[in-house]
Amino acid sequence: MSMITIEQGQFGSDYVVAQVGGGETLLVTTDYDYPGLASTFGWVPCDCGETDGTVDCPHRTASEMISEAAEYLDNHVGDEVEDPGYFSAVVVVPSNPEEVGQLTTVAAPDKGRPEAGKVYRLIGGSESASIANGNTWSESEIDQDNPPDRQDTLGNC
Ligand SMILES: [Zn+2]
Repeated sequence: MSMITIEQGQFGSDYVVAQVGGGETLLVTTDYDYPGLASTFGWVPCDCGETDGTVDCPHRTASEMISEAAEYLDNHVGDEVEDPGYFSAVVVVPSNPEEVGQLTTVAAPDKGRPEAGKVYRLIGGSESASIANGNTWSESEIDQDNPPDRQDTLGNC
């Protein structure tokens, strides 16, 4: 089983998941992906177990959990855990700052292709459609016309 580690991205509010001993990296820029990624590194969204951190549970809001997940990730940069399958699912390689946030290289031929200008859930939680969970790109698309509440979840600096 290969190991993965987390690195702070170069743009402040993003993260890079890197294969330990391998050359592959996965850029995570979508705040919806933070709870799923943080969970991989040991974070628990809520003790009730009714949420993956991207939807409200009776005790906590998604915004609160997404913020906490980002904080958890900041505090666990450099940790190593077993790869739960991120690198068998997809590889995203940003080639320059203008393209960060867009998906430039994808090694998942049976999942279709990402479309420019759309937002996809790469990791998500166990109950969300995401690329890492084996869903197709179209299933993993986040509807930007009707997004979950994401206001003020993260500062940009
Ligand atoms: Zn709860």
